[in-house]
Amino acid sequence: MNDTKTISVVIPAFNEEECIAALIDRLKEIMDKLKYPYEVIIVDDGSKDRTFEVIRELSVKYKFLKGVKLSRNMGHQAALDCGLKHASGDAVISMDADLQHPPELIPQMVKLWEEGYEIVYTQKLENQQATLLYKVWAKTFYSLFNKYSQIKLTPSGSDFRLMGRKSLEAVLSMPEYHKFFRGLVPFVGFKSTSISFDVQKRFAGKRKYNFKQSMKLASDGLFSFSDFALKIPFIIGGIALIIILLYLLYTLILLIFHGTVIMQGWTSVIAILVLSISIQLIFMGVLGVYIGKIFFEVKRRPVFFADETVGELKVIK
Ligand code: UDP
Ligand code: MG
Repeated sequence: MNDTKTISVVIPAFNEEECIAALIDRLKEIMDKLKYPYEVIIVDDGSKDRTFEVIRELSVKYKFLKGVKLSRNMGHQAALDCGLKHASGDAVISMDADLQHPPELIPQMVKLWEEGYEIVYTQKLENQQATLLYKVWAKTFYSLFNKYSQIKLTPSGSDFRLMGRKSLEAVLSMPEYHKFFRGLVPFVGFKSTSISFDVQKRFAGKRKYNFKQSMKLASDGLFSFSDFALKIPFIIGGIALIIILLYLLYTLILLIFHGTVIMQGWTSVIAILVLSISIQLIFMGVLGVYIGKIFFEVKRRPVFFADETVGELKVIK
């Protein structure tokens, strides 16, 4: 172990003015006990409240505290990307600003890193506060994801994790626009382990993710790591083709040997027509989702724009 190694803590925050001071207090107490020099980078994701002012005020007292303010609300994953890119530590820990991720877990994560683990994941134990709708949604998403994607996600995974410099550089080398770190991190591989924790109550304020954002995150994850949906038309089209060929053969046999012509009537014709049109439209929609993603990828737009910064941050290329 090398004492000159440093640790960065990266925290995206959107309208979290009430949480920042308590978060910094709890973090400082924990980080001071570790023997590494550290920095805490809070990325203000275009908050409308005093989040950035609070960061600025506290940074006068605490030199380890640094801040980046994004030019507008760009989303949790974009803010996380910004923080990770600005982090200079040999180990970088990402966590939420609302104290749902207990800083008290950090020493254990650091210890595992010292033992040689490149990535330390955390897994949430049963979240009592989650609504039924959320639980059903999460279960559906993870089972779909794991069935069809290149990587396996744990249903109770979170963005509270430690990454060593090597794995962080690997994750940051992937230039995609639609970031989904919960997928990108396992994608790079490396020696990893996981620890469990009890999700704490939000320190203050309300959940910042609405259902639409959760859906967007899930779709970014699902469609960036799997092209399975694009293959479904092949399967359904193939099955339909076999059925229709068998049916034609059957009518031909009846015609040849019995001289009977099968007349099915309008209803069945219209039903088949509507069914095939709707199936085609659904698959055009699937293509649309992928083309939409490609549309944003080819523009090569930056994931975030920084407005102001506080403290000495690593310069990003
Ligand atoms: N967050 C963010 N930008 C957003 C939404 C959320 O930076 O557009 C931050 C938020 O401040 C918090 C973390 O992402 O630090 C997780 O958000 P939240 O607590 O609302 O989600 P939950 O913990 O309920 O999944
Ligand atoms: Mg939260």
